[in-house]
Amino acid sequence: MRLDIVMDKYKKLIHIIGPHENKREEILSCATNALRHASILFKFEKGVDIVIFDSEEWDIHPKLHISGHARIYYIEIKVCHYKKSFNFENFIKYELPSTIFHELSHVVRANTVGYPETLLEELVDEGISCYIEKTLGLNNNLPYIDKINDEEKLINEVRKFFDLKLSTKLHNDWFYGTASIPEWAGYRLGYKIVESFVNKHNTPLDILVGMKAKDIY
Ligand SMILES: [Zn+2]
Repeated sequence: MRLDIVMDKYKKLIHIIGPHENKREEILSCATNALRHASILFKFEKGVDIVIFDSEEWDIHPKLHISGHARIYYIEIKVCHYKKSFNFENFIKYELPSTIFHELSHVVRANTVGYPETLLEELVDEGISCYIEKTLGLNNNLPYIDKINDEEKLINEVRKFFDLKLSTKLHNDWFYGTASIPEWAGYRLGYKIVESFVNKHNTPLDILVGMKAKDIY
């Protein structure tokens, strides 16, 4: 198929709401490219709608400029354009493409193995998305997988809850932190689980995205 026709297919899936008019074309072309590349890499043909809209500063983590969320049918990306530390070049070059790869991995999993239901499934789901971002080097600033203290201890601790059904509390404790669990621990531990699996088995990314959590851990 001709490239312009292929590009058009992905372009139609990108919906931009909010950002300044003069930036729309750049955002559209960046998101279209990232979606096309990620779809090819994951061998995910059917495509998914991506909505990109601007949001409030309080709605985005203080260490980030962008937040993403994926469901089987769509990816939602929120960005705060007026935040002081926001840099449009970085957004276009690194943050937006990397986030699209991260979120498309969730979409592929939702379409294959289904949504995570247990804490282990959630850890592996996030771990795969983060591993993809890290290994492709699309964005060097991924604070949610920075090294944390006592990782071995935390892995032994989190293991006790692996089979528990996800709840708001269980999810927030491990991903957003509590007094005893560091913030983002779930992302880091999930990333470590996936990294050690891929190092051992050399799994290609298109296979990895569709693997069941229990086969990875
Ligand atoms: Zn994620």
